[in-house]
Amino acid sequence: MADSRRAKNRCSFCGRSEDEVGFLITGMNGFICDSCAVQAYEITQDALGKNKGGTSKLNMQELPKPVEIKAFLDQYVIGQDDAKRFLAVSVYNHYKRLMQKDGGDDVEIEKSNIIMVGSTGTGKTLLARTIAKLLRVPFTIVDATVLTEAGYVGEDIESILTRLLQVADYNVPEAERGIVFIDEIDKIARKGDNPSITRDVSGEGVQQGLLKLLEGSVVNVPPQGGRKHPDQKMIQVNTKNILFICGGAFDGIEKKIAQRLNTHVVGYSAVRNTAVIDKKNLMQYIAPQDLKAFGLIPEIIGRLPVLTYLNPLDRAALRAILTEPKNSIIRQYVKLFEMDNVKLVFEDAVYEYIVDKAVEYKLGARGLRSIVETIMMDAMFEIPSQHGDDFIVTLDYAKRQLEKANVARLQSA
Ligand code: ADP
Repeated sequence: MADSRRAKNRCSFCGRSEDEVGFLITGMNGFICDSCAVQAYEITQDALGKNKGGTSKLNMQELPKPVEIKAFLDQYVIGQDDAKRFLAVSVYNHYKRLMQKDGGDDVEIEKSNIIMVGSTGTGKTLLARTIAKLLRVPFTIVDATVLTEAGYVGEDIESILTRLLQVADYNVPEAERGIVFIDEIDKIARKGDNPSITRDVSGEGVQQGLLKLLEGSVVNVPPQGGRKHPDQKMIQVNTKNILFICGGAFDGIEKKIAQRLNTHVVGYSAVRNTAVIDKKNLMQYIAPQDLKAFGLIPEIIGRLPVLTYLNPLDRAALRAILTEPKNSIIRQYVKLFEMDNVKLVFEDAVYEYIVDKAVEYKLGARGLRSIVETIMMDAMFEIPSQHGDDFIVTLDYAKRQLEKANVARLQSA
């Protein structure tokens, strides 16, 4: 009798009998088979995934306003006010656009991708990383140097979106509202106009590919990145609502700016203009035509309507970078020592000395860390095994440590 009752047990979801499935899980009033249980799990994951990150629930009141976004950036990045303002506004507008989609308004706000131009080590990537901390949408940083045209060694342009998919846990609608920071965009400039490019698997071809993404289209993204291959299942992503922020050093673009300013400086009114041109920082006069002269195709420039720049870092900025940001280099070392119960103190003159050296070796902001690291290396080696309370870095000590180290090593940092 038990046998005949068991034969009637069926999955309450798909209706298959016990012998047709792997096994049945018994509930209060029914059964679920193994495959329906798996499907139910997937449905749950999907539903949870949709809520995760909460971008579909963006709320105007809760969003940080541009002024707040900039204030947040100020805590970590020194100077670069123009770039910060542009970034803050663009991110805020990006949110607005995403919310407007939900409302189904008839005035469609178009996205404004951004391009930031500034010498290497002036804070472009730092700005992008910092803003990522307060974003409510998926965000990723990719490097344009690895991109090549299809058929060449390197990565397909679509792989830019792989990382975004990964941070969105492969939730496509979520990724489709994300922000991508493309670093070193200048490396895909056309070779003809830019002598500094040595590898050119047709910069223009890569730019055409990138254009497709910037414009907004449905592209096939390899889920694992790299190069597409035939047996890999692609994920379709619509880039219409993805905000692209590009950054590049554009080495030598000042020359193009100077040329343009000179050619415009003709006649009476020009004399007045030349008086106000700050020759030490030509970057602030950057205009779309300079990007074109550098080797970006006009279509790409057209799709990056917000153009902003970063100032070169002067002595005062370098000095501030050492100690002022919330996680400044010096604070990081103080913290390291604190963990060994040692109070680390720097004499003020040491800061000036570090900046002097960074300027002398032309290391910029990036060099500050290697200089401090060199000065502190012996102390970091010895202090944890000693039992002192304080460690004071005097100017003499700093000088000795740095002179002892191999300066050439620093210069190649
Ligand atoms: P870029 O992307 O412009 O080449 P990064 O943002 O990578 O430069 O900067 C390199 C490092 O230099 C950063 O990690 C940071 O420590 C420091 N740095 C550069 N610019 C600034 C800045 N404006 N404020 C604070 N730190 C900075």
